[in-house]
Amino acid sequence: MADEQETVVETLTSDDPIVAKIARIVGAENVSDTELERIVYSGDPSSLPQFHYRWKYKYLVDYVVRVKSIDQVQAIVKIAGDENIPIIPRGGASSCLGSSSPTRGGISLDTKPMNQVIEINSSEMYVRVEAGVTFNQLERELFKHGVTLGIRPTSARSAVIGGWIGCGGEAGIGTPLHGSLVSNILELKVVKPNGESVNVTGDDIGLFCGSYGILGVICEAKLRVVKYPSGHTTFSYAFDLLEHTCNAMRHLSMLEPQPVYLKIADKQFQSYSNPLEKGNYVLTATYQNEPDPCPTDKIEAIMADNGGEYLGADYSLKDWYLVEDCEFNPKEHCQTLMFQEMLVQVDKLYDLLKSYESYKKSHKTPAIWFAMLGHDGWIRAELMAMLDPEKYLKFIGSKGILHKMVGKSVKLGGGPYTIGLQNSVYMKRAFPNRQEKMIVAKDKWDPGGIMNPDRVTSCLTSYLRMNVLFQLAAGIRRLSKIIDRGE
Ligand SMILES: Cc1cc2nc3c(=O)[nH]c(=O)nc-3n(C[C@H](O)[C@H](O)[C@H](O)COP(=O)(O)OP(=O)(O)OC[C@H]3O[C@@H](n4cnc5c(N)ncnc54)[C@H](O)[C@@H]3O)c2cc1C
Repeated sequence: MADEQETVVETLTSDDPIVAKIARIVGAENVSDTELERIVYSGDPSSLPQFHYRWKYKYLVDYVVRVKSIDQVQAIVKIAGDENIPIIPRGGASSCLGSSSPTRGGISLDTKPMNQVIEINSSEMYVRVEAGVTFNQLERELFKHGVTLGIRPTSARSAVIGGWIGCGGEAGIGTPLHGSLVSNILELKVVKPNGESVNVTGDDIGLFCGSYGILGVICEAKLRVVKYPSGHTTFSYAFDLLEHTCNAMRHLSMLEPQPVYLKIADKQFQSYSNPLEKGNYVLTATYQNEPDPCPTDKIEAIMADNGGEYLGADYSLKDWYLVEDCEFNPKEHCQTLMFQEMLVQVDKLYDLLKSYESYKKSHKTPAIWFAMLGHDGWIRAELMAMLDPEKYLKFIGSKGILHKMVGKSVKLGGGPYTIGLQNSVYMKRAFPNRQEKMIVAKDKWDPGGIMNPDRVTSCLTSYLRMNVLFQLAAGIRRLSKIIDRGE
């Protein structure tokens, strides 16, 4: 054993004693403090404006650690606790907005190697999985047993179970029909910051759903499964007017049975995946063929009332097949895709989108958008701006407009969808009750404060400071004619 350990230590990338300690647990190949890996593991696909880095005490993690088992997580968390090193749990990093980025250095804990499907029980209709399993990997296994999770985020190709739990899972494919993620979790196995492993059940599951890694490391989940559907019915309609598009979506959201997928998008968003040949907006809805059949007649009547024009079977099917690609496609056509996701009730969606479209005109912001139905009438609306970060004034100005849009969503009774690092500053305004609950939970679960610091319960900057900066930035954006000449 001693010989083995010495061999491991010889292959380390650094002589840091913490790296040596960690390597003895996970193997030298699964710990790194090289600059390249630290950079890769400190970011995510979203663009954090430059000034954001100034707010962080340390914007690079100190160590990257890949864990394969709950025992390894316990041992690593114990070291972190003893040495007072922050732990930043990381899945697919697709949550963006700095959710799994550090603020004070620390250990980026890559949970993706914990990717075992532990048990599929198709008579009691549940599955037990490790946190690092991707949705598509899990679905392939479930399919062999004739069952499915029923819900998944549209980022299913890269997101992992633990990561979606970390983010809350309010909206995804299947959530209108099967409910939000929290209502589909039966039990979690979590490693507390002191290294202890506990089973989480009942109301406490709701604390971990949307905890952004601030309470402990989710290692396993027991999730409900449903019978695999025999097929789907999908249709897409084009609309000329935003109001009619939102109205059609609202009516469909009230119809039974619920769809598995219901989205609307503007023409430009659509042009990057499934271009529209007519109309300015698209609505796509997908229904399972059972237990209740698709309410085709009622849908056609709603579409006709709102001036929707059917786009044909080929177009509709393509839109459904592209569900896991369409949101990232615009990123291939610009330097930076800046975005904010909002949570609003479906009857407030028109107000929100109308406001974003009017900023597009008045502030010349390169805005596009997409919105999908979550559960119980909640919508995840993704407001994007296609930008070149080198054109700094425009870039920061568009960020200012997205800030105003968060304010608008709060006024409409919603708030930002993903909290992560960037949106923690809005928690108190948008979700004060949730924040209060999480402050109490943080004191209980992580009294030492090592788990993913500076988000959800606290923030590195003040709302006042940020509001002044972004209001100013949005104002400057309005002078776009001058900016256009200057840049
Ligand atoms: C193209 C695209 C489409 C998306 N579609 C949807 C959608 O349909 N619905 C939706 O809800 N969201 C969606 N999202 C955002 C969504 O929340 C993430 O895609 C996904 O759920 C995050 O999973 P991840 O594995 O990438 O987690 P990460 O981004 O790695 O982590 C998310 C948060 O959870 C924490 N965390 C990760 N693993 C653990 C763990 N094991 N224990 C404790 N904490 C942990 C992290 O610290 C972080 O704070 C989308 C994002 C993109 C980019």
